[in-house]
Amino acid sequence: MTGAQHAGDLHTGSAAEASHADGGPVVVAIDGPAGSGKSSVSRAVARALGFAYLDTGASYRALSWDLLDRGIDPAHPDAVLGALDDFDFRIGTDPDDYFVRVGTTDVTDAIREPRVTGVVSLVARIPEVRRWLNERFRGIMSSTPFAGIVAEGRDITTVVAPDAPVRILLTASEEARMGRRSQELTSESAAAVGEALRSRDKADSRVVDFMNAADGVTTVDSTELDFDQTVAAVVQVVHTQTARTSHGG
Ligand code: C5P
Repeated sequence: MTGAQHAGDLHTGSAAEASHADGGPVVVAIDGPAGSGKSSVSRAVARALGFAYLDTGASYRALSWDLLDRGIDPAHPDAVLGALDDFDFRIGTDPDDYFVRVGTTDVTDAIREPRVTGVVSLVARIPEVRRWLNERFRGIMSSTPFAGIVAEGRDITTVVAPDAPVRILLTASEEARMGRRSQELTSESAAAVGEALRSRDKADSRVVDFMNAADGVTTVDSTELDFDQTVAAVVQVVHTQTARTSHGG
């Protein structure tokens, strides 16, 4: 399988690079349901800390986009696995230079379209797809030239990076999540957005549990917090947990 390696697009030059010498990049693992604000919060946290940012959901979306583009049925695991051989994607991990590409096509916006969102859970439930992508995620995390990396998704705290020094479950009430998502997608009715979000969470939570914090995972509930407060709360957890880790606790 030739999956393109993606770490080459990182911008270096952050003062944070220096701390690489003492034990590799700090991994901040963040999981949570759709509409919890994970992506925008994780990116802002990465920016605040001078860390890289890895949007794992974008990779599942890029694969889904590629399947649709090639006319391959995402509901057929064998066809999906066959397509992995030629799945050539790159994802930018600099929080100030975020992009997703499949081959030479920029799909940063296209992967958010409802037709992609509508099939991504089918692709994500295939165990071999998860293993294949997880290997790439771990490669990106360990090779980042930044001092750390904020990786967000559904199973980062439990499967992809269960030993990360910082593991967070970012939640919000269903009502708050739907409200935020329908503001983002102004072309769809609130009811349609709510239904799509609920059914995606239901399908995804059959594969991994991202509704309940695993042992050692800190929950940040953003229901009553605005964006800046949520970012500050997550940054605070990072500081607390990394201080604890570096003191051996
Ligand atoms: O985070 P986002 O909503 O973009 O994720 C898109 C989809 O990718 C999710 O609905 C889920 O099916 C899948 N996903 C996953 N595991 C991850 C990240 C995303 O299964 N770590």
